Amino acid sequence: MARIGIITCSNCTQECNCASVVCLGDLRKRRGFFAPYPHDEPLELIGIINCAGCPTAAAPEKILRRVRAIAEFKVEALHLSFCMTAICPFINKYVQLIKKAYPKIKLVMGTHQPTEKERFTSGVKELLCQTLAAPQTMSDMIKGTIKIPQK
Ligand code: SF4
Ligand code: SF4
Repeated sequence: MARIGIITCSNCTQECNCASVVCLGDLRKRRGFFAPYPHDEPLELIGIINCAGCPTAAAPEKILRRVRAIAEFKVEALHLSFCMTAICPFINKYVQLIKKAYPKIKLVMGTHQPTEKERFTSGVKELLCQTLAAPQTMSDMIKGTIKIPQK
């Protein structure tokens, strides 16, 4: 049995209302970055938490508070969500810090099957900057109904 945790981008989960449904769907179906786990062994999700938000240039270490919330429960692998790998400018620093703090935990750079990065980035920009009376959410992106203004 593999004990795993997931850490997600707070912009996507908190600002864009993503409930991590695609991450969890692919975990159940053993797709994307969950495919390498043996299919005949249970995969146990110990915890899922979003990042601590923008760390500024001063405090990238604040990610460790969030990692600790999962890491203290005998987690063998920690997945950084697809959204983190696609849009986070701090990810390389986070990887370095997490590896140093938790050398025994395997870091996996992704969760669900990657979608087209440029379209995902445009979608997140639209969700974060929109001024619509009825704001779109990550669900619109997942369902393919998001409207992205043409440049
Ligand atoms: S871009 Fe990076 S630091 Fe900012 S909310 Fe997303 S994962 Fe966290
Ligand atoms: S990787 Fe996709 S489904 Fe998972 S939290 Fe990020 S945006 Fe949501």
